[in-house]
Amino acid sequence: MYLIPFELLFSEIARQETRSLTLIGNQMPPASDYGLLESYCPDPECDCQRVILNIVSRNEQKQVATINYGFDRSAQDAGPFLDPLNPQSAFAGALLAVIAEHLETDRAYVLRLKAHYALVKAAAADPKHPSQQKLTEWKAEGQRLRETDERTAGMRRALRVISEHEPAFKALERKTKKHRHTNAKR
Ligand SMILES: [Zn+2]
Repeated sequence: MYLIPFELLFSEIARQETRSLTLIGNQMPPASDYGLLESYCPDPECDCQRVILNIVSRNEQKQVATINYGFDRSAQDAGPFLDPLNPQSAFAGALLAVIAEHLETDRAYVLRLKAHYALVKAAAADPKHPSQQKLTEWKAEGQRLRETDERTAGMRRALRVISEHEPAFKALERKTKKHRHTNAKR
């Protein structure tokens, strides 16, 4: 499974609805604007109910934390947690605390994330959706990038985020499916 940045599929919605947080003061995490860039699993067969938040700092001009957050709050591994296989920084834990509180208190934001998740899954499930071409290209580009080193730094970074994420994400999906299966048997 691969993850796709939300802004790649729905650039206009992402431009208007991607959350950013401005932190001020001397405490941790350091003062900066932080963008919460969303990635989702575009496999229409997979009911993972998750968003990956790639936290990018305006001051540092790089990704400083990667947060895994499940919408099914009763799931054991719902999170939010720092994704162990993705880029983190020395203050990723402090950022996680801030964003966990944000997710807890701003239910409208969580509903927005769920809506974005639903948009991605619906696009992926519909062969006639205009985003199908982008999904196919993204997948193909990812495979091509694994084989060649001649791409831009940005694309390489994006691919690294995605490919490094893969094993952890699969593990989570397995757990989620097992959990659901158990429930369904009762
Ligand atoms: Zn999935």
